[in-house]
Amino acid sequence: MDHSTVSSDVIDTPLSGNQRRPFEDPYVTADGSERARVKLSQPTTLWFNTGTLCNIACKNCYIYSTPTNDSLVYISSEDVSQYLRELHERQWPVKEIAFTGGEPFMNPFIIDIVRLCLFDGYHVLVLTNAMRPMMRPHIQKSLMELNQLFGDRLRIRVSLDHYTEERHDEQRGKNAFSTTLVGMDWLQENGLNMSVAGRTMWGEAEDLCRDGFARLFKVRNYMIDAYDPEATVLFPEINPEKANVPEITKACWDILGVRPQDMMCASSRMVVKRKGAPSPTVVACTLLPDDPQFDLGPKLKDAEADIYLNHTSCAQFCVLGGASCSRG
Ligand code: SF4
Ligand code: SF4
Repeated sequence: MDHSTVSSDVIDTPLSGNQRRPFEDPYVTADGSERARVKLSQPTTLWFNTGTLCNIACKNCYIYSTPTNDSLVYISSEDVSQYLRELHERQWPVKEIAFTGGEPFMNPFIIDIVRLCLFDGYHVLVLTNAMRPMMRPHIQKSLMELNQLFGDRLRIRVSLDHYTEERHDEQRGKNAFSTTLVGMDWLQENGLNMSVAGRTMWGEAEDLCRDGFARLFKVRNYMIDAYDPEATVLFPEINPEKANVPEITKACWDILGVRPQDMMCASSRMVVKRKGAPSPTVVACTLLPDDPQFDLGPKLKDAEADIYLNHTSCAQFCVLGGASCSRG
C-alpha cells in the first residue's frame, strides 16, 4: 500500500491565492481533487447511542463520556420504536440493531429497548464495559431471561482495551480491568454470547496483541476466539491532533485497494438524541456523533444520502486504519 500518493497536505500550511485548506470543502480536497464519498449501499446495522453518561471516564473515550456528560441524552423506547417503524417503511435490509454509549446499561430503558428489538426479529448487539451498571441484579435477571428467549440473537461486546491490567487501567482507571473481568466471568457463566473490543494504541503488532488476548481468554475460560476479528475487534488509535492526516480522494480507493462499500457508513447509520433537541437525529456513523456535516436529519429517508469523507477520522480510522465498528 503506497500512502505517499494520497493527498497529504499539512493542516497548518500557509495558503496562497485561492488555495483551500485540507478538510475545508466538503466535496473537494485541498489539491482540487474530488473527495471520496460513500453510498449507503447495504444498510445492515442501525446503531443507537443510548446516551453519553458513563460510570467511568476513560482517557481514550472517543465520545468523551463521563459520569456527568449528558450531551447525548438517554434514548427512549418510543424513540427506538419510531425508527423500527421507519426501517420497515423504508425497507432497509437491516439485520442488526446495535447500542453504544456512554454505558448502555446506565440507560433506564435499555432492557425494554433491547427486548423490543429482539421481539421485532433483529439481532441485537450491546457494547458495554461490563462493570457495575450491567452487574445490577435487575439487569442481570433481565439479560438471563432475554438470553433464554432469544439465545445468540443477543450479543454483548465488552470493551477490554488490552489483555494486561496495566494498559487497560492506564486508560480506564484503577481496578477497571479486574472489575470488567468479573462482569465477563458472569457473562461466560450464564452463557451469554460475548465478544471483546480491544485497542491497538500501544504500537504492538496485531498478531502479538491477539496472542495476548488468547492467553487471557484461555486462563479465564472465555469462549472467545482471539484470532477472529469479529469476536475480538481491535480498533486503531484515533488522534487527529497529533497526526498529519491525509485527505481521501475518489482516486484513493483504487490506489489504496480499499472499497467504499467496506466503510461503516456504507452499511450503517446511528441515531443520537442531543440534549435540548426536539427529536433524535441520524448521523453517518458511530465515530462522528458531533460533527454537523455528518448529521443527516431526523428521518432515515434523509439519512440515505451519500457521505463525503471530509473528516480526519474517515482517513485515519476507516480508510487507512481498516476499522469497522459494525463488526461484533
Ligand atoms: S467505558 Fe466506553 S463510553 Fe465509558 S468512558 Fe470508557 S470508552 Fe467512554
Ligand atoms: S468516519 Fe468512517 S464510517 Fe464515519 S463517515 Fe468517515 S469513513 Fe464513514
